[in-house]
Amino acid sequence: MPNSVTPTHCPYCALQCGMNLTPAPDGTVEVSERADFPVNRGALCGKGRTAPAVLSSRVRLTSPLVRSGGTLVPASWDEALDRIAEGLSRTRTEHGPDACGVFGGGGLTNEKAYTLGKFARVVLGTSQIDYNGRFCMSSAAAGGMKAFGLDRGLPFPLEDIPKSGCVILVGSNLAETMPPSLRFFTELKENGGTLIVVDPRRTKTAEQADLHLMPRPGTDLALALGLLHLVVAEGRTDEAYIGERTVGWEDARAAAMAHWPEYVERITGVPVPQLRETVRMFCEPESAMVLTARGPEQQSKGTDTVSAWINLCLATGRAGRPYSGYGCLTGQGNGQGGREHGQKADQLPGYRKLDDPAARAHVAEVWGVDPDSLPGPGRSAYELLDALGSDIKSLLLMGSNPVVSAPRAAHIEERIKSLDFLAVCDVVLSETAALADVVLPVTQWAEETGTTTNLEGRVLLRRQAITPPDGIRSDLDVLHGLADRLGVEKGFPTDSEEVFEELRRASAGGPADYSGITYRRLAEENGVFWPCPTPGKDVPAGDHDVHPGTPRLFLERFAHPDGRARFVPVSHRAIAEEPDAEYPVLLTTGRVVAQYQSGAQTRRVDELNAAAPGPFVELHPRLAERLGAAEGDPVAVVSRRGRAVAPARITLGIRPDTVFMPFHWYGEGRANTLTNPALDPTSRMPEFKACAVRLETVER
Ligand code: SF4
Repeated sequence: MPNSVTPTHCPYCALQCGMNLTPAPDGTVEVSERADFPVNRGALCGKGRTAPAVLSSRVRLTSPLVRSGGTLVPASWDEALDRIAEGLSRTRTEHGPDACGVFGGGGLTNEKAYTLGKFARVVLGTSQIDYNGRFCMSSAAAGGMKAFGLDRGLPFPLEDIPKSGCVILVGSNLAETMPPSLRFFTELKENGGTLIVVDPRRTKTAEQADLHLMPRPGTDLALALGLLHLVVAEGRTDEAYIGERTVGWEDARAAAMAHWPEYVERITGVPVPQLRETVRMFCEPESAMVLTARGPEQQSKGTDTVSAWINLCLATGRAGRPYSGYGCLTGQGNGQGGREHGQKADQLPGYRKLDDPAARAHVAEVWGVDPDSLPGPGRSAYELLDALGSDIKSLLLMGSNPVVSAPRAAHIEERIKSLDFLAVCDVVLSETAALADVVLPVTQWAEETGTTTNLEGRVLLRRQAITPPDGIRSDLDVLHGLADRLGVEKGFPTDSEEVFEELRRASAGGPADYSGITYRRLAEENGVFWPCPTPGKDVPAGDHDVHPGTPRLFLERFAHPDGRARFVPVSHRAIAEEPDAEYPVLLTTGRVVAQYQSGAQTRRVDELNAAAPGPFVELHPRLAERLGAAEGDPVAVVSRRGRAVAPARITLGIRPDTVFMPFHWYGEGRANTLTNPALDPTSRMPEFKACAVRLETVER
């Protein structure tokens, strides 16, 4: 077993920072700088630095648990796996395969996501599989597919950012969510470029900006349309580019021209002079980028909002050119790879579509099954969770904690409790695992080998550095054991490289083609960008006997058959739940630097808890005064879905009509008790970022 320095990657966010791990004599693991990885050049945030603490956490699960007499008690692996197989089997027999649900996570490695999708479709025969990555990037993915014919979060490496002339960062607080990435923006400014941040809060990221726009939450679509209107009015479009490389300009132009700057100011609250200054800063340099994150994407019009920002790039010739383009800053560790290989409701591996007969035939051949046996597309994440206990009777859940992270979380918690059977694989007893009939303790990142794909589309090898504790198995072992018990003896290997070899074949020829990538290459190179096909007669291999990978997309052509990008005409519309007399304030939610997602791992790290011990309600002094609340006073935030209580944090750095809550915690301060599950019609993304609430003081 490895006992020296192992170069690998952080278990948390989509930056996938490189780090070295060294086992210490006392059984713990030391993290040290790994300067050769270009994304972080050795820098790590507090989450990455302290990640090994979860490996040896005293609350780590070390034995399977089964529910007996209402209590979870230790059990053998055979007993636990038998119980899960029986639970799923009974549901399938009594209610049909679609009564079995599978829910995955954007933190699972490519191999696990691939195997989970295959398990659902081949072993259970269910269409009901989706994953929490739906809550992360699905609107950007949908917008990217419409415009470019392909979705890869960033179509260029992060290293291109400092060479651009201007970056508009929309709804991203990367100074807190992925701090090592901030240096790319610092270098951008040192090189003479400018940074514009769009955020209703004056975040640590916004403090770095040359210009900070503070729109009302849920109005990013109108903002982008207003900017495009000004681009046209000021004659700043790139007509040659539009003519040569795009389709659909006239309709998009007409839609934008209905959004006068003064009208946009009324909707967004962003003054017209700031709109004009943004257009000037964006259009004057030779190159410019727009990068979006959860702010504009986690809306019930997230896809249209992304389309509006892409339209701005296309109209100004700022896509598919050096140091220019639109990109999405994916959040979860394997948010990119997790959406490519089949755990999403409508997908097959290689970013193929489940309703495409040719895709079904290709993947079915790799899997050795009849294409007609593969179910069709299933429900999206929120719809799947909402169907628990009614249409879906049993659930296998891997790498997710929806009791904290799903919108309208108290309702989802009740749906989960109403299941006939729930099995959860996790490293600790998360709030969701605590509701399960069977809990399986699984290996963590440093205890297993597998691949992830970071926000740049760079496929990476996470290497095993230590031996897992006794009593713990990998998710691949779990799926192998369940498949075997459910009558499928072959096709579910436990070795991740063996799974990856099959994934290569399954992805070959698909949009996210990994067939030219091997573990050997990943060990020798600092990641390989997809698409990376196997060299053949149509694939330029250059001096290599392998394809070099594709760090930069769209420089020659976009991925639509005619090589042209598509404008998508979109218009402003309101959020699903506007403030009114009863609920007069807007709530927006987000993250803090010391916690990650639902906090299942980071809330187990003392150092991180000391830095971010619990939720809070951030509000403007004017709002606090109206409420009669002082700093630290408990404040109740009430929406149509429930009530959450947390201490007031009063700051001038937020709009007076808006409050902010981070969503990492359970209990009375659970922000997702309040959030609105109104879904985007295309991406099925819930509207996490804007809903109507009222505030109340709380007697303590
Ligand atoms: Fe890990 Fe993300 Fe922090 Fe890097 S920025 S150390 S990948 S959590």
